[in-house]
Amino acid sequence: MKEKNPVFVEIPRATPREVPVALRVLGWGEIYGDFDAGQGEQQAGRCIDCGNPYCEWQCPVHNYVPNWLKLAREGRVFEAAALMHETNPLPEICGRVCPQDRLCEGACTLNDGFGAVTIGAIEKNIVDEAFRQGWRPDLAGVKPSGRRVAIVGAGPAGLAAADRLARAGVAATVFDRYEEIGGLLTFGIPPFKLDKETVKLRRRVLEGMGVEFRLGVEIGRDLPFDALLERYDAVFVGTGAYREVAAGLPGDDLPGVMPALPFLIANVRRLLGSDAGSDASLDLRGKHVVVLGGGDTGMDCNRTAIRLGAASVTCVYRRDEANMPGSRREVKNAREEGVRFLFNRQPLDVLGSERVEGVRVVETRLVADGRNRARPEAIAGSEETLRADVVIVAFGFRPSPPDWCVDAGIDVDDSGRLKVGGTGRLPYQTTNPRVFAGGDNVRGADLVVRAVHDGREAAASIVRSLAIGTAFARESESSFA
Ligand code: FAD
Ligand code: SF4
Repeated sequence: MKEKNPVFVEIPRATPREVPVALRVLGWGEIYGDFDAGQGEQQAGRCIDCGNPYCEWQCPVHNYVPNWLKLAREGRVFEAAALMHETNPLPEICGRVCPQDRLCEGACTLNDGFGAVTIGAIEKNIVDEAFRQGWRPDLAGVKPSGRRVAIVGAGPAGLAAADRLARAGVAATVFDRYEEIGGLLTFGIPPFKLDKETVKLRRRVLEGMGVEFRLGVEIGRDLPFDALLERYDAVFVGTGAYREVAAGLPGDDLPGVMPALPFLIANVRRLLGSDAGSDASLDLRGKHVVVLGGGDTGMDCNRTAIRLGAASVTCVYRRDEANMPGSRREVKNAREEGVRFLFNRQPLDVLGSERVEGVRVVETRLVADGRNRARPEAIAGSEETLRADVVIVAFGFRPSPPDWCVDAGIDVDDSGRLKVGGTGRLPYQTTNPRVFAGGDNVRGADLVVRAVHDGREAAASIVRSLAIGTAFARESESSFA
């Protein structure tokens, strides 16, 4: 009798429905929908539970992936959602924005020839469905400790810390200078990758867990940092990395040249009905846009410019496609939506008299020295000029340590990152023992899931430092290095 093929052979990898390109560029909605009925369970059933789950190791928060895939396969939505939250305070968000091809799915055993399990989409769909059905984290057994912690920054690092502190019975108050929570989840990542209602729902979930948000409050301007040290038992600082890497090109001060983040933020604010509705820089109708940079921020600018009606969008990157830092999925999406990629091109200067009219670029070849990443080298005589009415500079971000760090005794390294951990300190504890930090302000610009990891682990350290004997603190000891 012929043996039956394993599930992963019988059922090929499938991703949730995608909004057709012609429709998605007309609006701002997420481009991925849900799985068809029963398809999520089927896809979860492709996991072979290989015994050595590389996906777990490659996932920065070490999600119990095979265990929740089994629950998802069996349709046990609430249990799967609860298990996801044990390691990841923001699973529905990571399921949407993680570059899975470089993380869990890239490491899946089936990725070698059969197509990785669609881990991210299943994570997103399970939590969305659990929330739809009314599931919420169960904190019934949590005893209030009487301790209070202030969190500066409502980005993924701060939100993850708030979640873990709430679970440990610590009252967490999150301060943010913006009018909504999320940090770059709200004011950086565009809505076609992460719908803002998802972040708002997470806010309601956290508020239901007892987390308090004080928004529109900039620490250092509206409230001194000292006040937090006086009023709270400890402070977590998750202020992100906001210093844009400048283009440094002749002519980059011409009108029409703009940095990536203010452009993306203005657009989100406009969509949220906030103050930037009349920002002229957002009117790209009929304009030729050149985006400099090949990272995720560059991809977001490309795709935003397409939706703002640009006549053409050209993305210039100085290395080749294989060396692009951006997620493969986002490059594919950008290309489908009409973005033209010019690889191996180094911008030389921005041209124009009254305002930008073009960008001069030179072709590059990659030179490997066997040790570092291949270096782009200009090919003499290959210069060309690209027509541009608008140039968006997306060369990345550096940490931007708040001014009050110095007065608060929080040491910062030469590149502006807050120093944490080390001899005699808990993980994520700064040089002020009552202050902890994590996310982009400690690592430099990185990923949502790594910020989540830091917030989670910093909260574990805070709980230890406050000597609260909760189950959560004991659980977290395994990660105490
Ligand atoms: P942030 O998200 O930056 O949050 C910091 C918060 O601190 C902000 O809300 C800020 O207002 C607040 N704050 C700062 N100073 C103060 C103060 N003094 N007082 C009060 N509040 C303050 N990562 C991915 O994994 N996938 C992606 O697809 C992706 N896309 C990206 C797209 C763009 C355009 C950008 C810029 C980044 C992207 N990233 C992506 C990276 C990811 O967003 C960041 O790594 C992550 O948000 C860092 O989290 P964080 O909490 O450290 O900081
Ligand atoms: Fe994959 Fe990110 Fe989910 Fe981890 S958190 S399993 S890396 S999608």
